[in-house]
This record gives sequence, C-alpha cells and structure tokens, in this order.
Amino acid sequence: MDKLETLKKYFGHQVFRPLQEEAVDAILKRRDLLMILPTGGGKSLCYQLPTLLMDGVTVVISPLLALMHDQVTALREIGIGAAMLSSMQSPEEAKEIVAALYRGEIRLLYVAPERLSGEGFVRLLADLPLNFFVIDEAHCVSEWGHEFREDYRRLHLLRERWPQVPIAAFTATATAAVEEDIAGHLGLREPLRLRGSLYRKNLTVRTRHRIGDGREQLLDFLATHRGESGIVYTLSRKQTESLAQYLRDKGHKAAAFHAGLSSEEKRRVHEAFLSDRLETVVATIAFGMGIDKSNIRYVIHMSLPKTVENYYQEMGRAGRDGLESETLLFYGAQDALMQRRFIDELEEGPYKEHAYRKLERLVRLISGEECLHRSLAAYFGEELEACKDRCVNCLEPSTDQRDITQEARKLLAAVYRSGQRFGAGYLIDLLRGSREKRILENGHEGLSVYGIGADLDRKVWGVIVDRLLELGALDLNAYKGLALTEKGAEILRGKRAVKIRSDRMEIHRSCPRPEATPLPEDIDPQLFARLRDLRKEIAEENGVPPYVIFSDKTLRELAVQRPQDREEMLAVHGIGEVKYERYGEAFLRLLR
Ligand code: ADP
Repeated sequence: MDKLETLKKYFGHQVFRPLQEEAVDAILKRRDLLMILPTGGGKSLCYQLPTLLMDGVTVVISPLLALMHDQVTALREIGIGAAMLSSMQSPEEAKEIVAALYRGEIRLLYVAPERLSGEGFVRLLADLPLNFFVIDEAHCVSEWGHEFREDYRRLHLLRERWPQVPIAAFTATATAAVEEDIAGHLGLREPLRLRGSLYRKNLTVRTRHRIGDGREQLLDFLATHRGESGIVYTLSRKQTESLAQYLRDKGHKAAAFHAGLSSEEKRRVHEAFLSDRLETVVATIAFGMGIDKSNIRYVIHMSLPKTVENYYQEMGRAGRDGLESETLLFYGAQDALMQRRFIDELEEGPYKEHAYRKLERLVRLISGEECLHRSLAAYFGEELEACKDRCVNCLEPSTDQRDITQEARKLLAAVYRSGQRFGAGYLIDLLRGSREKRILENGHEGLSVYGIGADLDRKVWGVIVDRLLELGALDLNAYKGLALTEKGAEILRGKRAVKIRSDRMEIHRSCPRPEATPLPEDIDPQLFARLRDLRKEIAEENGVPPYVIFSDKTLRELAVQRPQDREEMLAVHGIGEVKYERYGEAFLRLLR
C-alpha cells in the first residue's frame, strides 16, 4: 500500500494537508524531523501514517495521560494496533501490553516521559524493532517555553541510547529560541524543519475589557452557545469551582476541572465532556494541555493568560475539526499587575527578566489595535496579512478615533523631567499632583509637570501609558521604569500626533452579544439532529466518545451530501474503509 492509499483507507482523507506529506516522506527516509504546526494542523497523522508503512513499533512520548488515552482509542477505532504504558496501569495490564508488543500486534506505543528512566522499559525497547521515536509537545523540553517539564529534560537519553533510531519532534508553537532548544536538547541531526502557518482561519479571536468579575458577560456569551462544547479558563482552583457552580445555578451543564481533583473525579468530568453530556468545563490550565476533543466550539479566558504561547495554545483547542469556533478573552488592567507581582517574587536572574518581557509582550498584543491573528503570528516570527473578519480588531475597527496628543505629551514630559527611571504608577501620581511620600522625598513636587494631569482619572492615564507602550513611544527598563524612545521624543517635541480608539478611554466598555452561529443553510436541522443521535447511540454501545466515531465535520457533510451507497459514503470527509465497515451501513440506512 502506498501513502495515498493508506491516507484514504485508514484515515478517510482524500489529500494531504500542507506539510503533512513532507513530514511523512522525511520519516520514511529515516531522517530526523522537527515540525511546528498549529493545533488542528494534523500532526498526529504525520507519524501515524508512516508507521503503517513500516514493520516495527513507533514509540510516542507524550506528556499527558488523557491525550494518550484519546489517541489510542482513536487509533484502535480505525483498526490500528496501539497501546499506552503509564504508571496508572496495574502490573497485569502492563504485562498484557508487553506480550502484545512481542507478538507484533502493536504498531504505536504511547509512553509518558518518566517511563524512559525505568530499566525494565529500556530493556523492553532493546528487544523491539523500533521504527522511530516521536516527541509530542516537544516545546516542553525548553525552559524558555511556557510548559517546561522536568521529565522532558531526560529525553536526550533517547539519542544517546539508540543513536541509530530517528527522532521526530512535534509542537504547536515555538519561537525561534524554543525551536533551537528542542533541536539541541534532543540531539537532532540535521532535522528536516517544517513550520506551518499559525493562522487558524476558523477561529474568531475576540477580547473584551472585563466588567466586574465578568460573569454576566460570560452568561451573555453562553446564552448563544447552548448545546455546544467549550472550555472556560480561570486562574485558580477556587475560581473554577465557584464559577462552575454559578453556571450550574444558571442552568448550564458545567463542571470544574483542576489538578486538585481526585483522579476518579477527573476521569468522570473528562468522560462526560468527551461524550457531550457535559457542555462547559471550567478549568485551570492544568486541563487538557493537548486535549483531543475535536468539536470544542469556544474557548474563553476569564483573565489574562500567562504568556502569548499559553494564549495561543489554549485558544487553539477550539475548532480542531476545522469548523467555525469562537475564542474570547476577558481582561482587566489588574490582571497584568497581579502577574507582575508574581514575577517580582521570583529569584533575580535571566529567567525573571525573561518573564517580565514575555508579560509585557502579551499585554501589548492584547491591548493593541492590530489584527490579532497577525500579531499572534508575528510573535512567533510569521508574517500574515490582516484577517479582515476573524478578530475583534478587524471586525470592530474603531471608527471613532480620539486625539490624545496633548495628554501624551504631558505624560512624556513627566517621564523626561523625572529622569526616565520611574514606573507608570509613580508618573501618574506625579501628574496628578499626589502628596505621596516618595514624590516629596525626591523633591518632585517642584517639577513643572507636577499636578498638570489632575483632571484625568488614574485609570485613564493607565490607558495612555499602555497606548504609548504599544506605539513604541515608551520603553520599559528591567525595573519597570519608563524611558522615551526616539518616537517618544518626537511626540514630546510636537512632531507627531497620538490617537486612540475612543472606547478605550471609556473604562467600562460593555460586551455586545455575539451572534449565535446557526447551522449553514443547506443543512436540514432535523436530519442533522438524527445523525447526531445515531452517532451518540453507536458511541455509547462502543464505549468511545462520539467524535471518535465521526467528527462534527463528517456529520455535516453527511447531512449535506446525503450519500446513498458505499462509494458516495467513502467520498465524505473522515470516512475510510475501516470506518465504513463499522458504521457505514447504519448511517446509510438512516440517510436512505
Ligand atoms: P494536531 O495534533 O496538529 O492538533 P490532529 O492530528 O489532532 O491535529 O488533527 C486535527 C484534525 O484534522 C483531526 O480531526 C484530523 O482528522 C484532521 N486531519 C488531519 N489530517 C487531515 C487531512 N489530510 N485531511 C483532512 N483532515 C485531516
């Protein structure tokens, strides 16, 4: 069987997506690979497909049990021998898997990174014909990344112990520095590097200033997304619990998920979510680092995420099936301040500096007025056109600009007169003529700028500082002191104007109700509902999540194309021969 036949027969896809074929070819040629492809880009196929064309076992290192579990389930569902070894299994279960490995029944073996240091495991691998190693979520090796994992640091052992076995590393996001870290740490040898576009065109990216705790804004959003699956991220375990309770009180099918739950409870929530019985999971970021549910229709952040990497990766869990999905971030100025305070506590050193810079870039990105897709891509080093209609800045461009040149000049003058080393809080006090001790100690009440900004609220001055940072008129030094840039100096001298969208100067900005996403017109809602019920029935009989049977995308195509026989059925997205044999007849009966 060749590549294309395998793609159709097992995976039910007609053509490769961008970069998939290159990745498959590299692996088949036994070349090392480093692939950076956004969530939903189709990374798993890149190592699963070549495995089917090889004789041995492919070992996949993955950091999350839930992810491995879902992958193994999905593979078995399309008739591919797969198993996982984890510390959660009983010795009997593990023995059974080892026996199956020796019998050659397992093509893909998923393991958690900590297994690699076990002698027993090393001996087991020594006895098996190995195809290649896969490192999933490879950014976890890098301390510069956002999800550094101690266990991943031991992965250099792979190359040392099995120098002849190729390595394929995959991640959804990596800056150039993280990419170098991955290649260096894993000891990759002239790997083929493939970097896919970060643009997720099926995601609409929105941000809103949070009003109060944001709960009413959240309810507004959820009111138009009943019956859909989604994740709401909060910062603490306590918040997940209380917000989930609040949503349940308001009649939503919601539950909390965080690292502090018992494993029994975690499993229960996870399964309810996968099987669509539970609609909204309120989680800390511990949830679903690589969660494999393809029909997540929305991802909401109740406050600022930790870094741009986190933001991108967390929002990226929406819409893996390629269908329209929403992402929404609520934030307030205090979010960044709190995170800054948290970083203040870290030990002095390059890591701390790095953390400040990352936070700064995140804040600038979120509060900027550029296309958000474009800014996100730019952060990771990719150039994109503005999306035009997929992010809040393009969808709701400010028609109403306000000139704040005079205010900006006052602020820049305060920066300059006080010696370009004070932070925003101090400068605002100075402008507002505060009797704060620090100001008097510095003798700054004698400066010409003292008190010239008393007419504006502190918060409004905060917005002006943000705007000047965004424009690059101000720079932040390591101690959060503000200094003028060349551009700032020009504004101060009256050579440049400064504008801002008017609504940003009104601190309380409301959240307009987003439109509900209706089914496309050519889909008969009744037929779609019946297809979905059939899927759920079959899923329950087989004890797997519904989307493992068919994705939402497949269901929609079935509803539109209404295939009448085997041939027409096989032309539908996601239906290969194996799936057809298992479920094809049942769906054909319904469609006929
Ligand atoms: P990633 O691991 O990169 O986040 P996945 O491997 O989970 O992405 O794939 C995301 C979705 O894309 C899955 O639903 C998968 O079935 C689909 N997919 C992958 N490759 C193709 C392809 N060549 N054609 C159509 N759909 C594909």
